Amino acid sequence: MKLNRDSKKYESIPKPMGLVNIPSKDFKLLDRDIKLAYASGIEDFNLQITAQTLVALYKARKSLERDEQLIIKSAYRPPKLQAELWRRRVEDIKNSFPSLDEQEIISLASLYTASPEHPKFPPHMRGDALDVSLSRKDIILEMYLEPFSYDQMQFDYFENKNKEIHENRLYLRRVMQAAGFFPYDKEFWHFGLTPVWPEERT
Ligand SMILES: [Zn+2]
Repeated sequence: MKLNRDSKKYESIPKPMGLVNIPSKDFKLLDRDIKLAYASGIEDFNLQITAQTLVALYKARKSLERDEQLIIKSAYRPPKLQAELWRRRVEDIKNSFPSLDEQEIISLASLYTASPEHPKFPPHMRGDALDVSLSRKDIILEMYLEPFSYDQMQFDYFENKNKEIHENRLYLRRVMQAAGFFPYDKEFWHFGLTPVWPEERT
């Protein structure tokens, strides 16, 4: 696969049936994807998931304390948005790891953003995947340290390093798993009703 060349492949991936908006009255919605979508030429973009995923998301919400709120950063991604995020991921990997060759860049980038060669169905294009965070009393729970780095993305990175951060990650994971979501070990914020990679389903 050549870098930045096959992003049109996303266009052939079918759009999931029955996508619904995530209600902003019940969840805090971040606008990164909305801005990127408009910049990528997508009109009328909202953070959306399948109806079944929204049911699970409400189940997660119900298990929270009264002063806690789920924050949604990314949900369903149409092809143009997925292509833009892939392009940005590849650039970021190149800048973060300048010694990697092209194939290594693609392999590493594919762990964090679905490439056009994803063997099944890119998680955020299934409509059942979410990137989430959590706030308490309107303050976002600390789940990483600045400057953010790739090693911190791994779910268990702070185990035995920073108790509070690891506890926060564990809490978010418990909330989402109890509602039926699969976590993704390489990204503490990613959850889906189906696993990122099919072989994770054991
Ligand atoms: Zn994700």
